[in-house]
Amino acid sequence: MAERTPSLDPTDWNALRSQGHRMLDDMFDYLERLRDRPVWQQAPADVRAKFQTPLPRTGSDLAGLHDTFMRDVLPYAVGNAHPAFFGWVHGGGTPVGMLAEMLAAGLNANVGGRDQIPVEVERQIARWMAELFGFPAGASGLFVTGTSMANMIAVLVARHRALGSQVRDAGLAQLGQGLVAYTSAAAHDCIAQAMDLTGIGRAALRLIPLDAAYRMDTQALEQRIAADVAAGLRPFFVAATAGTVDTGAIDPLRAVAAIAHANGLWFHVDGAFGAMAMLSPGLAPLLDGIGLADSIAFDFHKWAQVPYDAGFVLVRDGELHRATFAAVPRYLRREPRGMAGGSPWPCDFGPDLSRGFRALKTWFTLQAYGADRMGEAIAGTCALARHLAHEVGKRADLELLAPVALNIVCFRYHLRGRNMDDGDVDDFNAALVADLQEAGIAAPSLTTITGKLAIRVAIVNHRSERRDIDALLTGLQMLAARRLGG
Ligand SMILES: *Cc1c(COP(=O)(O)O)cnc(C)c1O
Repeated sequence: MAERTPSLDPTDWNALRSQGHRMLDDMFDYLERLRDRPVWQQAPADVRAKFQTPLPRTGSDLAGLHDTFMRDVLPYAVGNAHPAFFGWVHGGGTPVGMLAEMLAAGLNANVGGRDQIPVEVERQIARWMAELFGFPAGASGLFVTGTSMANMIAVLVARHRALGSQVRDAGLAQLGQGLVAYTSAAAHDCIAQAMDLTGIGRAALRLIPLDAAYRMDTQALEQRIAADVAAGLRPFFVAATAGTVDTGAIDPLRAVAAIAHANGLWFHVDGAFGAMAMLSPGLAPLLDGIGLADSIAFDFHKWAQVPYDAGFVLVRDGELHRATFAAVPRYLRREPRGMAGGSPWPCDFGPDLSRGFRALKTWFTLQAYGADRMGEAIAGTCALARHLAHEVGKRADLELLAPVALNIVCFRYHLRGRNMDDGDVDDFNAALVADLQEAGIAAPSLTTITGKLAIRVAIVNHRSERRDIDALLTGLQMLAARRLGG
C-alpha cells in the first residue's frame, strides 16, 4: 500500500509566502494606478485562445499562473474598478473589501449555519440594516448573490403569506390560480424573471405606467388593482423601485405602501443600488416610506462598494421568512449543544445551503470606512451626476433625456438640422458609445428612454471625480466630431 499522497498545502511555506506577497502587491499596484489604464480593452484573439485549452492533468507553478493572470486576465476585465467606468450599475470595490475577501477565503467558512461567529457577523449586518431602514427587531436578513435573487426570495415569502404554508407541498398548480403582482414599467426585468422562476408566470405581472418623472403612476396602480379584483383575480404583491436602472427614479414609496397595504398586498422595494442612499443623511429623505416595506432587496456590491458578490434581502416578518424556506432534514438536525446549535441558521431563510462568508467583506467595509463616509461617497456620485447634467445642458448639440434623480444621467446627440431620421440618430449615439469604450477613455452604456436611444452614465464608483466626467465629455466631443466631420 502506497503512502497517502501529500496534502494540497505547500511543502515550502516560505516560498508560498513570498509568492503570496507578490500577488498582493500586484493588486495594490493595480488599484493604486487604475487611472493610468484604459477603462476597458477587448481581448485579442490570441489571448482568448489561451482559454480554450483542455483540462490540465498535471499541475503548474503558481508564479507562472500569477504571470498569466496579470498578462491575460487582469487587463481584459470589464474595468468597473476604474473611475471612468459608467456603464450599467457596477460598484468599484475597495482595497479593504479585497483584503477581507482574502481573509474569508483563508478561513473558508461555510455560512449555511451551525454555531459559529461568521453566522453572528451576518446577523449583525442584518440588524444594522434593520436599524438603517427602520425595521423592527423581528426582521430577518440574508446575504445572496444579488438583487435578482433577493427579489425572488421576496416573491416567495409573499407567495407564502398569500397562500399559506400548504403552498410548500401543494404548489401553485392547485393553489395559485389568479395570483397577480404589480411593478412599474421601469422595473428591472429580474422582477418579471422572479415571477417566471417561482412558477407564477410573467403574465401575472402588471407593468404600471410611469408618470412624467419616470416613477410608478400610483393612480394607475390603484385602478389596475381594483380592476383585477373586480375580475376575480388575487393581487398579492407590489414591487416599487428605489432607483430605477434606466434613470435612477424613485417610485413614490409611501403612496405605494399605502395602496399595497389598503389592498392586503405585500409591499416590496427593489432598492438594488438606490436603497443604499439611506447611508447619506442628505439623500435619505428621497426614500421616504422605504421603512414601510415588507421586504427590501439591495446590493452591497453596487453603491456600497463591497466586492462582488454581496446582495441582500431584508424581511420585516422574520418568522414568515423562515417559514417560507425552513426544512430540517435528518442530516441537518439542530441540537441544544455542540456545533449543531445556534438555530435558526441562514440556510433556513433561502434556497442555499452551502454559503460563502459574504458578510465579512461587508462588515469590514462598513467598519473600516463607517456609514457616514460611505454615505458621502454615495452623495458624491450624485453631485457628479448633477455636474454632468449641467454640462450637457450647456451644449447645444446634446440633450438630456430624463431628469437626474440620483446618480444616472441619460442624454444624447440629437443631431437636429442634419436631415437624419430617428434610426440614424440612435445608430450614431450607439456607435459613439462603442467608440468611447474601445478608445478606453470612459465607459457609459446605452438604454432607451421613451423610444430614444440614450447614452447612459451611471456614476456608482467612489473613485470617480470631475476630471473623469470631463474626460467623458471631451472624449465624446472628439469622437463625435470625427464621425460627423469624416
Ligand atoms: C442591478 C439591479 C438589479 C439586479 O441586481 P443584481 O445584483 O445584478 O442581481 C435589480 N434591480 C435594479 C434596480 C438594479 O439596478
